Amino acid sequence: MSQIFNFSAGPAVLPREVLEQAAAEMTDWHGSGMSVMEMSHRGAEFGQIIGEAEADLRELLAVPEHYRVLFMQGGALAENAIVPLNLLRGGSADYLVTGSWSRQSAREAARYGTINMVVEPGEAAFTRIPPQAEWRLSRDASYLHLCSNETIDGVQFHWLPARGDAPHQLAPAIPLVVDASSDILSRPIDVSAYGCLYGGAQKNIGPAGLTLVIIREDLLGHAHPLCPSAFDYAVVAKNKSMFNTPPTYAIYIAGLVFKWLKRQGGVAGIAARNQAKAALLYDYIDASGFYQNRVAREDRSWMNVPFFLADPALDKEFLAGAQQRGLLQLKGHRSVGGMRASIYNAMPIEGVRTLVDYMKDFERSHG
Ligand SMILES: *Cc1c(COP(=O)(O)O)cnc(C)c1O
Repeated sequence: MSQIFNFSAGPAVLPREVLEQAAAEMTDWHGSGMSVMEMSHRGAEFGQIIGEAEADLRELLAVPEHYRVLFMQGGALAENAIVPLNLLRGGSADYLVTGSWSRQSAREAARYGTINMVVEPGEAAFTRIPPQAEWRLSRDASYLHLCSNETIDGVQFHWLPARGDAPHQLAPAIPLVVDASSDILSRPIDVSAYGCLYGGAQKNIGPAGLTLVIIREDLLGHAHPLCPSAFDYAVVAKNKSMFNTPPTYAIYIAGLVFKWLKRQGGVAGIAARNQAKAALLYDYIDASGFYQNRVAREDRSWMNVPFFLADPALDKEFLAGAQQRGLLQLKGHRSVGGMRASIYNAMPIEGVRTLVDYMKDFERSHG
C-alpha cells in the first residue's frame, strides 16, 4: 500500500509507531505469552498497563491530585446522560450550544432536569463562538456545559469563560463541564479551571470504545438514585475504573498514544505542530477564491477544518481525485456538506502539505 493520509473525523488516524508497536506485541505482550486482549483486567500485567496510562495522562495534562481520571465506556453521547445523572443534583444546568455536538448534549440533558440555554441558537449554521458578553448564565446552575471543539462545524474555543458576578460571567463556584472529545491532548489546558472534562477516545486518543473522564473529586458522590452503577462517577472512581470490565485493549492503545505524545514534546510540542498544520490549510483556503471556510477566524478549529468548493457540483470529482492521491475520508459531515479535513495529533504536517498541493492542482484545473 502506498502512502496514504487519513483525514477521518473519527475514528481517526493513529500514530504509525503506535500501530506498529501494537502489531509487534499483538500475540505476546512483554513476554507474558498473552495478547492484551486476553488478559484479566485484574491481573498484574493489565494493572501495569492501566497504571502507566493514567500516570502518563496525568503528566501530559498536569492533572492535579484532587482530580480523578476515569476510563469509561459509552462515548461522549453516553456522557451526555451520565453528566446530568451525576452532576445535576436535582437542580438545573446551563448549556452553551455552539454546534451540533453541544446541541445534542443539551437535548439529552433536558431529559434529566431543567436546562437553561446560555444563548438562543438560531437557525443559521454554526460559524462562531458567541462572545461571552452575549451569554445569560444562571447564578444557581449545578454546572455549565460546553463543547471545546465542535468536530462537525469546525468551531473551537480558544479561551476560557471568564468568571465573576455579572450575568454573562460564570459564577466562581459553578463547575465548568466540557466535552473535549475532539481536542483533548491537542494543546495545553489548565485542568484546574474545569469541574469535569470528558471525551470519546476515537478522535485524538485511541480506539472507539473508551471514554476518558477527568473530574474534580468533590463533584463525586451526588449521582441520581437511578443512575446506573457503572455510570456513577463515584462508583467508577472508587473501583479505579474496574467496577466492571473496562475496555482493556482500547486503554492499552491509549497508553501507547500517551507515550508517543510524550516523545513529541508533550501537549506543548504537539500544540505547536497542530497550530502550524491548521495555519497551512486555513492560509491557503483564505488566499484562494476557489475554496472557502465559513467559521470566524478567531473561532476556527485546529483539529477539524470544514471547507467548501466554489461549485458544489465539483465535490464528487474533488473527492475522487483526492482518493487517488491517497488523501482519504475528506467528505464533509452530511449536516454541513462540502469537505472536512480532520488534522488531529497523529496527522503529520506532510499530510496537510500533500492536501494543500492537491487542492492547488484541483483549483488550477477547475478554477
Ligand atoms: C465524536 C463526538 C461525539 C460523539 O461521540 P461518541 O463517542 O460517538 O458518543 C460527541 N462530541 C464530540 C465533540 C465529538 O467529537
